[in-house]
Amino acid sequence: MAFDLDMIKKVYDRYSTRVAAARKATGKHLTLTEKILYAHLSEGDAKQAFARGVDYVDFAPDRVAMQDATAQMALLQFMQAGRPQVAVPSTVHCDHLIQAKIGADTDLSTAKDVNKEVYDFLASVSDKYGIGFWKPGAGIIHQVVLENYAFPGGMMIGTDSHTPNAGGLGMVAIGVGGADACDVMAGLPWELKFPKLIGVKLTGKLSGWASAKDVILVVAGILTVKGGTGAIVEYFGEGAQSLSATGKGTICNMGAEIGATTSIFGYDTKSEAYLRGTERADIADLANAVKEHLTGDPEVYANPEQYFDQVIEINLSELEPHVNGPFTPDLAWPISKFATAVKENNWPVKLEVGLIGSCTNSSYEDITRAASIAEQAVTKNLKAAAEFTVTPGSELVRYTVERDGYLGTFENMGGVVLANACGPCIGQWARHTDDPTRKNSIITSFNRNFAKRQDGNPNTHAFVASPEIVTAFAIAGDLTFNPLTDTLTNTAGEQVKLDEPKGIELPIKGFAVEDAGYQAPAEDGSKVEVKVDPKSSRLQLLEPFKAWEGTDITGLKLLIKAKGKCTTDHISMAGPWLKFRGHLDNISNNMLIGAINYFNNTADSVKNELTGEYGPVPATQRDYKAHGIGTIVVGDENYGEGSSREHAAMEPRHLGVRAILVKSFARIHETNLKKQGMLGITFANSADYDKIQEDDTFDILGLTTFTPGKPLTVVLHHKDGSQESFAVNHTYNEQQIEWFKAGGALNIIRRQMAS
Ligand code: SF4
Repeated sequence: MAFDLDMIKKVYDRYSTRVAAARKATGKHLTLTEKILYAHLSEGDAKQAFARGVDYVDFAPDRVAMQDATAQMALLQFMQAGRPQVAVPSTVHCDHLIQAKIGADTDLSTAKDVNKEVYDFLASVSDKYGIGFWKPGAGIIHQVVLENYAFPGGMMIGTDSHTPNAGGLGMVAIGVGGADACDVMAGLPWELKFPKLIGVKLTGKLSGWASAKDVILVVAGILTVKGGTGAIVEYFGEGAQSLSATGKGTICNMGAEIGATTSIFGYDTKSEAYLRGTERADIADLANAVKEHLTGDPEVYANPEQYFDQVIEINLSELEPHVNGPFTPDLAWPISKFATAVKENNWPVKLEVGLIGSCTNSSYEDITRAASIAEQAVTKNLKAAAEFTVTPGSELVRYTVERDGYLGTFENMGGVVLANACGPCIGQWARHTDDPTRKNSIITSFNRNFAKRQDGNPNTHAFVASPEIVTAFAIAGDLTFNPLTDTLTNTAGEQVKLDEPKGIELPIKGFAVEDAGYQAPAEDGSKVEVKVDPKSSRLQLLEPFKAWEGTDITGLKLLIKAKGKCTTDHISMAGPWLKFRGHLDNISNNMLIGAINYFNNTADSVKNELTGEYGPVPATQRDYKAHGIGTIVVGDENYGEGSSREHAAMEPRHLGVRAILVKSFARIHETNLKKQGMLGITFANSADYDKIQEDDTFDILGLTTFTPGKPLTVVLHHKDGSQESFAVNHTYNEQQIEWFKAGGALNIIRRQMAS
């Protein structure tokens, strides 16, 4: 596969001018994060002075990566743009839809069968539009990206929350929704609130049982699941330089658990070694030529308090292995205190399953360290007391560790090797359990451990640790075991102690693979047909949304006046609905079913003005649509907070809602509404929310002179014949008004591409 060397050259060419201009404009030394962000401003050097955590800025990312679940709607939307090819290098990775049940081969072939229509769609749409396609079984998005596409000083967006994994190779890599990915692939700039900066200084060097995973387990304990919100975490110091690139990737990956926008390490000899080890010596050579730009200024790291909003220091020489959980990744326990915590909290002592791998921890180094523990189960006559599974992160790693004998080591210990996919990490796990009502414990080397995440069972207490600690626990089958100090009784009745793990950073014989699972796109995709079965319940081609009719919008009925919190989950619920995420009409049957109706305090029960009956929100809306009647949704404060799920904006648009009127919007959702050509407006006086009655009919006036900063007017026609009106605000700029008029941003791009 191509490494986009020319693209990387162009990015590096920008660095010297952009960094110099940024230093001049700000009058200060720069962190690595600032250098990368300045180098990726979409409008060159024009916007140099912006405030951290305040200003939204347009960026031009270098790459897009999508996983199979979220790629579906992103690519269905992209098809609307009318472009022959994506504007930036992009890839699709089939990793989320493979269920772990029996073992790699059987599970993979079942998944190919069950998900055939989705895979056929993703393969054909990738082929057509110049997108690299990684087939099911090729690996997990973040591991594959680290091995093939991440490069120091780059910027990437990915439709998955653990996209920051690429920060291990010095890339600003940020998880986004499908709408953002669609925009960047369509050639639009990408907007991000300029982040705050948290600096983590690492001193000392890891030894013994401590690993890179323990760094992030400690950081999660310090910052908690919210502590990184709106911030980029930059790691530096001699300790940082001593960590392998994949260890750095683990730390950045799990930075998502503290809510960080992303995390990053600077370019160093470990990054160089990894690039060369993964056959990217040409990128290492390019990076070496600009390496002063691929790390923070020395003055910054000498006095970090002056440059970061918060600084944390961790001495790796004193770092103790940690176990975090249960039910939250920020409940951090040093291993020496864990046994007491287990007893005091009455968590199930017996460990039922240990699971290693996932995108977080399946590097060659991780596997070899864990295997050095697994091997002792055999050589010291220990029998693994818990079930044990291994999920390799990519075919490259799987093939190489099989060649080098490590998979055999795990199997000798009784382990089961699962497909190169997310599997149990995302709940795609048909766990064998005799009694799901029993409180039970599992431990993983994954990143998330919220209730039900792995096996859907609220009684499962999931803990997170490094692969070597997980392997030791799987042998012991007991959560009060401390592998650093305790002994185990072997089959001969002897007391034996596990030796410290030993790992190999990069394979001595080099990486190898027979078939990495990559499909390059067609040179000329114009003749390629995108495969979507018209009878599919999971996929549906999108129709362009209609343009604005050019007049004020009148005669709207109230669909729902939502009360209190109305997040994107209330608007477009997840769970079982996610299987329809590529089928807009089917998934629209979840529209607003979680929102509470102000008039009856009930979810999914609204009055149909045509019949006088109460019914589900989607069915009521479909009835209005069938009668050609537009509707309005009224909401409270911070409407649309939560994930950036584009379905929450697309569903109302698809079903014929004409406007969303709220006290305030969560910004990302407001932008998503604008992109879909929806009218999103706010009460100028939030007390006007109280004027809305259930039987009202609405007019929205002022649209024929729709102008940035100029309020519109809403007229309420009450059932008793009276009427009242009030001003409503909007935040549409000139371009967004054009989106509204055209019926959506993609309609404009399509028009431009056609002309
Ligand atoms: S392995 Fe887990 S964390 Fe990684 S991409 Fe898959 S689901 Fe997400």
